[in-house]
Amino acid sequence: MNQDVAAPVRELDLGVRWRHTFAGLGPAFHTELAPLPLPEPYLVGLNRRLADELGLDADRLRGDAGVAALTGSLPIAGTRPLASVYSGHQFGVWAGQLGDGRAVLLGEIDAAGGPQELQFKGSGRTPYSRMGDGRAVLRSSIREYLCSEAMHGLGIPTTRALSVTGSDAPVRRETVETAAVVVRVAPSFVRFGHFEHFAARGQEEPLRRLADYVIDRHYPGCRSSGRFGGNAYAALLEQVSERTAALLAQWQAVGFCHGVMNTDNMSILGLTIDYGPFQFLDAFDPGHVCNHSDETGRYAYNRQPNIAYWNLFGLGQALLPLIGDEATTLAALESYKTVFPRELESRMRAKLGLGDSREGDRALIEGILQRLAADKVDYPIFWRRLSQHVAGAAIEPVRDLFLDRAAFDAWLLDYAARLPADRATAGLAMLRTNPKYVLRNHLAELAIRRAQQKDFGGVAELLAVLQSPFDEHPAHEALAGFPPEWASHIEISCSS
Ligand code: AMP
Ligand code: MG
Repeated sequence: MNQDVAAPVRELDLGVRWRHTFAGLGPAFHTELAPLPLPEPYLVGLNRRLADELGLDADRLRGDAGVAALTGSLPIAGTRPLASVYSGHQFGVWAGQLGDGRAVLLGEIDAAGGPQELQFKGSGRTPYSRMGDGRAVLRSSIREYLCSEAMHGLGIPTTRALSVTGSDAPVRRETVETAAVVVRVAPSFVRFGHFEHFAARGQEEPLRRLADYVIDRHYPGCRSSGRFGGNAYAALLEQVSERTAALLAQWQAVGFCHGVMNTDNMSILGLTIDYGPFQFLDAFDPGHVCNHSDETGRYAYNRQPNIAYWNLFGLGQALLPLIGDEATTLAALESYKTVFPRELESRMRAKLGLGDSREGDRALIEGILQRLAADKVDYPIFWRRLSQHVAGAAIEPVRDLFLDRAAFDAWLLDYAARLPADRATAGLAMLRTNPKYVLRNHLAELAIRRAQQKDFGGVAELLAVLQSPFDEHPAHEALAGFPPEWASHIEISCSS
């Protein structure tokens, strides 16, 4: 054999140390399997910022071997790929066993803020694929990639996205599309549904092992908190309830609709997870349903907070065998009902530039939301213009958004009286609270259309802007404008 010819690369060493604590839970929790390669993968987007945070060499990832590795077409040294099993309630109905039907966990690596797991989404069939093909299409992968980073840029807890790669391999949905893989990153991908899975089967031993694993790694304080007489599982449920409450307050304040809040799409860490038919509100419509497949409007924007509680209740039922009694379980869930309204009011006060809490604030918040709804005012633009006004700009651009100017003026009178004397400081704080840039449906759609023609410039441009959504980006003013008329006709469904 000619020694001068380099051997083909069989695996890529990313130069990081991999650990496999989730795999260590044992075979009841997962199936080990290799991702299925896609032909001739190409890079659609690489998140340099996240690569840096993870200590990964972005230039190496951009190379042919890196792109193949990010697509699951070239093994990554040190990884131990697996698909995990979970169950869940979908649209309010027990769906039985689900699981990672198109996701594969690679393991975890150390990052500045602690260990981070890396996971492929769209890397081929697994034992949990059921009728699915294990793939994800380019359009939904771009949406997940951009929205993960948009949420992170907004300071909202979320899974993150390192990359999206594509292949011309056909994927059949309503039409024939092409395949893509997102590399997702999170401290843990454990969902409420992981717990429901073992509880529904009456398998208390793995249920306890999973709860202990989550507590030890992510909620160590539950062991020593003394809450609920030292019942660590009740303390866990309370902590998850609080994080979920805080998350929902952030969603509602920014105008984010998740679209598929099934219990298998609820993170045990209170992260936004599973970006499907999500939408940021354009015009403010409290009953807005972003998921075209959601015929009853179960996951409408204004129902999200109650649905989150419903889902937590499901988690509580799953943890009941560990907690021991119903009363303690219900008590642990109670925190949601206090934390959510408190967090929401605090977020809304911040949007209005009001630091401390005063009597009458709730009326002020409800008053403006009523005006926004009545006149179907664009939600992000209203808040940004109001911020600019408080920071010193004229009121006209704000007032012009309303049909009923007299009603708006009446609200404005109360608001002006309540604003702190130091308006400039309040205005600056509002500009750091009310984003200029959100991932509106039509923006994602335009970037997707270009990407489908192999022009990935729109994806990179949006990523850069959305990673710092509170800053002015003068070259990208158009991305902060009103949605075009056609945006209201975009139909996003569960098909992805
Ligand atoms: P979702 O509604 O996207 O959260 O998915 C619900 C369940 O269906 C999860 O178990 C997914 O892994 C699975 N699933 C969704 N799409 C596919 C697909 N194309 N192939 C295999 N499994 C899928
Ligand atoms: Mg899901």
